[in-house]
Amino acid sequence: MKKAQTIFQQGNHIWRVVARDPERPNYLIDTNEYLISYNGKSLLTDPGGMEIFPSVFAAICAATNPEDIVALFASHQDPDIISSLSLWLEFNPELPCYIPWLWTGFIPHFGGNKDTFIPIPDPGMSIQLNGLELKTIPAHYLHSSGNSNLYDPVARILFSGDIGAALLPADETNIFVYDFDKTIKSAEGFHRRWMGSNYAKQNWCERVSKLDIDMLCPQHGAIFQGADVERFINWFAELEVGVLQR
Ligand code: FE
Repeated sequence: MKKAQTIFQQGNHIWRVVARDPERPNYLIDTNEYLISYNGKSLLTDPGGMEIFPSVFAAICAATNPEDIVALFASHQDPDIISSLSLWLEFNPELPCYIPWLWTGFIPHFGGNKDTFIPIPDPGMSIQLNGLELKTIPAHYLHSSGNSNLYDPVARILFSGDIGAALLPADETNIFVYDFDKTIKSAEGFHRRWMGSNYAKQNWCERVSKLDIDMLCPQHGAIFQGADVERFINWFAELEVGVLQR
């Protein structure tokens, strides 16, 4: 079963992760969903696929009231990111969904109508969450051609989507990275193959190096925190990507 766990709390400002699920069927890639709450209203990042909707929804219900979710955020178009959209809209048809503008003609195949989608322009935008200003950070070609991260400058947390993703063995259930070298071994093949552009990657590394980041939260794998954040960015900067695995 998935479970929502708090990874940051400062008064009414909370980040929860609905972390990967060791009991899921192993033909499904495991995912992390993040629920950002501020003064009682929440935004859900990369809500996941329709296959895992029941377990994500149940985990959120066990932690908080899902009616307080006021927006969805999809970093890109993949099925494990946002194919649950129509189920979320069955729960609340008014729910807006922030998506990179490039995918505005494609993601509606998962559901929604002309009022559902708020396109994120290429340079990024601010998202207001009940008084908290979140910033989208461009991450195009990493891996999707239209791709966005989400930064919370108050909590100093970057939701990094597929960047930082590690395909960890099933017995690695830690939410946080505890052995950087071990985690990075499970991340290397994924980044080499899935990340599409060395130029875009270099650009991203420079962009995020300027941000204060206490936690880098990927959609697969474990969360990098403290010194491991910079360690990861430096590792990624050096990695050759967009090539078939050698
Ligand atoms: Fe993806």
